[in-house]
Amino acid sequence: MRIVRTVRELRAAVAAAKAAGSTAALIPTMGALHEGHLSLVRAARAEHGFVMMSIFVNPTQFTEAADLAAYPRNEDRDAALAESAGVDLVFAPDAAELYPAGFATTVHVAGAITETLEGAGRGPAHFDGVATIVSKLLIAAAPDAAYFGQKDAQQLVVVRRMVADLGLPVRIVACPTSRDDDGLARSSRNTRLSTEQRSSALAIPRALAAIAESARSGETDAAALRERGAAVLAQSGLTAEYLALVDPDTLEAVPRVTGATLCAIAVRVGEVRLIDNVLLGAGPEQR
Ligand code: AMP
Repeated sequence: MRIVRTVRELRAAVAAAKAAGSTAALIPTMGALHEGHLSLVRAARAEHGFVMMSIFVNPTQFTEAADLAAYPRNEDRDAALAESAGVDLVFAPDAAELYPAGFATTVHVAGAITETLEGAGRGPAHFDGVATIVSKLLIAAAPDAAYFGQKDAQQLVVVRRMVADLGLPVRIVACPTSRDDDGLARSSRNTRLSTEQRSSALAIPRALAAIAESARSGETDAAALRERGAAVLAQSGLTAEYLALVDPDTLEAVPRVTGATLCAIAVRVGEVRLIDNVLLGAGPEQR
């Protein structure tokens, strides 16, 4: 496995792989790799001859300085995990490589899909940062496909919109949320939870499961479903920053769950902000 730090080296490597007949996949990450990231690698590995992973803690998508400062970083460990999962090339640039002096361009995806949920909670700069870095990575790596986790459901909606609007020639692949055995969605931020906080955080998947169960049992009223989830969170002393039932494509709130609906949640457990989601009306295997 190679590690490269410049766009020039990245371009040369992917061009060589394509010239040798491979298709190329990119998995954008911020490092602090866990099984969730590696599940994306395996999905990409199954379909492509050349698998690239970018590891870059993108400062422009952080809206809280403390969150950026506390974000875990360990490149040696990440490189070992990436290699063992079958990554061919890691692109690990420093910030000046991607944001050189004088950088002045932002990719802004407008409308409800960036203004609601995470956009409301973290501020509009968050998705500007995401759309800008993802478009830069897709332009630099020119992959045939890029792999993203359903864990960040809104990010996927925003990336799909951006790719369609800019006409980028890349297939966006969504992979299911990978969970620990106790149900907690895997996240780089989980390492910052104390033992007690981690056990409180289990109320998040429990709340989503309770909502999914109520929906399966025939409850369609969004307010009732949200109350059901809030009650489960309250048992662990947690309150959601948002607990929303939205259309999975437009992210607009739905008053009734009559078809495929995204139930998305953000909860602060101590200092750590966690997100999770479940797709309702899409079968139990989607949880
Ligand atoms: P991050 O490093 O947190 O920016 O995540 C990089 C990619 O991994 C994103 O596409 C995430 O959605 C995805 N990802 C993170 N956690 C998980 C998970 N638990 N299951 C599946 N994908 C995930």
